[in-house]
Order: sequence, then C-alpha cells, then structure tokens
Amino acid sequence: MMKAILVIGDGMADRPLRELGGRTPLEAAHKLSLNQIAKTGICGIMDIISPGVIPGSDTATLALLGYDALEVYTGRGAFEAVGSGIDVSPRDVAFRCNFATVDDDLVVLDRRAGRIVNEDASKLAQSLQKIKLEKHPKVDFLFKNTIQHRAALVIRKPRPSSAVSDSDPGKIGEKVLKIKPLDSSQKAELTTKILRELTLKFHKVLKQHPINKMRVERGLPPANIILCRGAGTIPNIKPLPEKYGLTSACVAASSLIRGVCKVAGMKLIDVKGATGTPQTDFMAKAKATIKTLKTNDFVLLHVKATDVAGHDGNIKQKIELIEKIDAMLDYILNNIDSDLTYMAVTADHTTSSNTKNHEGDSVPIAVTGPYVRRDDVKQYDERTCAKGGLNRIRGMDIMPILINLIGKAKKFGA
Ligand code: ZN
Ligand code: ZN
Repeated sequence: MMKAILVIGDGMADRPLRELGGRTPLEAAHKLSLNQIAKTGICGIMDIISPGVIPGSDTATLALLGYDALEVYTGRGAFEAVGSGIDVSPRDVAFRCNFATVDDDLVVLDRRAGRIVNEDASKLAQSLQKIKLEKHPKVDFLFKNTIQHRAALVIRKPRPSSAVSDSDPGKIGEKVLKIKPLDSSQKAELTTKILRELTLKFHKVLKQHPINKMRVERGLPPANIILCRGAGTIPNIKPLPEKYGLTSACVAASSLIRGVCKVAGMKLIDVKGATGTPQTDFMAKAKATIKTLKTNDFVLLHVKATDVAGHDGNIKQKIELIEKIDAMLDYILNNIDSDLTYMAVTADHTTSSNTKNHEGDSVPIAVTGPYVRRDDVKQYDERTCAKGGLNRIRGMDIMPILINLIGKAKKFGA
C-alpha cells in the first residue's frame, strides 16, 4: 500500500534579503535532507491560491488539502476554535483573538503582549470566561487561550452573525477598531453590540488583573486587551476520507492548522513537546509522523516556527529553524519505506523577513518517491525549484498529484 506525507514549513519561503547578500533563508541554510529530496524528486514552484494573492495559513492549508479556498472559506475564527478543542456547532460564530497591549487611549502598543506565555494567558482566560454582561445577560460565549498570545472566542447565543468587522487594527500605533456590522441584519447589529460590550468588559478585567500587575513589575507588557478578528462559521466541505478515499492524520501544534485539518476530517495527533513555537520538539514530530504513517495513508506534518521567525524579522533564527526542519526530514527519510512512500515538501506561503508579513510570492515544492519523474534540480529553494519538472502549479493541485502517485485517483471519463 502506497502512502504519502505532506510536509509544510509555515512561511518557510522568503524573498532575497540584503542581509544575506541577496539570498533567501532557504538558500543560505545548510540543508542536506531538503536538497536530497529535491535531488531524488520532481520540483517546481507553487502559487498557493493564485499568483500574487497573499494567503493566510488557513486558506493556504485548505488549498494544500485540495480545496478551492476561494469557494469554501468562511473565516478564520472557526478553525482556530475547532483546533483548540472547542466544539463549534454550525450555528456558532467564532473569532481568532490576540492578547495584546494597549495604552490608556486604546492605542495598540504590542499586538502579542510580548508573546505572553501560556501559563499567564490561561489564568487571564479563566477570569474572562466568568464575565457576565450587564446589557446582554443572556449571552452564551466561550473564551479560550491556545498558544502564547493566541485565543479563540465563540459566541453561541443569542444566535450570532459572522457579518461583523474586526477590532484588531492589525498593526501597532493604531487605535483598537470600533466593531461594526457588515450587513443590515438584526443579527449582525446584535452581535456587534455584544462584541463591543465584551471587548470593554474584558479590558476592564484585564487592566486590574494580578497577572498583569505582576507582568508590569517584571518589565513585561501587560495583556490588557483582547483583539478579535476573522469572524467565521464552520465551512461545509467534503472531508478527505470521502473526497479521496484515504485515512489521514495531521501532526501539527498550531490550533489554526489543527482546526482546518479537523474540519477536513483528519485525525489530530497530539505530540508531547510540539508547541507551535521555535522551541518545538522537531524530533518528536518526526517520530510521531513515522508512527502515524503506519496506520494512515496520508499524514500532514506542519511546522509553525519558520513563520514566527519571519514575522519577527529574525533572519538568523529562520535559517536555524530551516536547519532543524532539515534534521527532522533526515530522520523521516531514514525511517520510511522509500519503495512505498511519497513525500512532498513545501511552504504554505512566503513570509518575508523584510516586510515581516505574508506575501503573495510563489513557494518551492519538491515531491520525492519511488516513481516520480526526477528532474535536474539538486537544491531545495525558491529559485532552483523553479527550474523543475512540476513547473508552476497551484496549491490545490498538490493533493491530486499525491493521490495519483499513491494509486488512489479515479479516472475522469471513460
Ligand atoms: Zn502560514
Ligand atoms: Zn504567518
């Protein structure tokens, strides 16, 4: 039985950097295993959505799992919530939230509250969950922190609308945005009012919270506001087992990615030491992938860390993390049955260490396995892969390519 692994280095692709003499972090990294995969495989570049379109990690992962993200995407919030273990019903509306730092005029000073540690965020979240709203006493909501500054908010009752704007301005130095309804429905109006009250109430409780007083004393930014964005419901998509007739699982720590995979009908594998941060245990993930592959046709292995380094503009760290991914791949290459396993390695988008944001540039892709048509590419990076036999494909093409290689594709036509 043929099997497939899809390895995603989140935001691993980059632009040429002056600091690296015009090279990208992938080009500058020492990466024997990635090069081995390119050498023994077929390479190309991939426009995750389409050329120049900047993907989020959620739309990108949907595309990489074979879905047309432009058609099925219903907002980030629901994925984040599902991925952090919250039960989200089709009627709920969920938001992706950040613990952030604002000044007295509600100007954002730090969108991640100094990447607050999980322990502090958990204690703050527990206090927020207990809040009662005076103007909307019947509101049923759930607030849960996930990793570091990340959190999810789910509004259950009264029946909410996802047609509401973000409170997160998306950058520092700007005021928290006033939440607005995005259509003229009563539901959107009510959801807006509830969110506004929640935001103020959260702010009030957080400002006085002992955890934040302690943080200030230690010179850390207080997590004194919750910024919300990406109101969303669960998308209606055909799960992978049905779509392709395979058993599948995901090895990922990021709750956003776990959420997408869960909605796509994949099993979620918990790995001790996998944190979704640069300190994650790469070897534990490699071992979990090999183990999971024994009982599944398809495993998605996702590493968040490279994207984090890119957002921080930390070029040195991004290179080190690519080298850790390389070591992780070395273990995998040495422990799979190479006669029966295909492996694709890519990034879900470009994260520029210069702009510190996702960009719409294409990403490298290499697929290795027993019967791929090898090309002449011998290095895994943005520029060299562009010379490979896969040429230029879209993100949603990679699953059909893998499904075809492992012999699970059905003929189109007679
Ligand atoms: Zn991403
Ligand atoms: Zn990112």
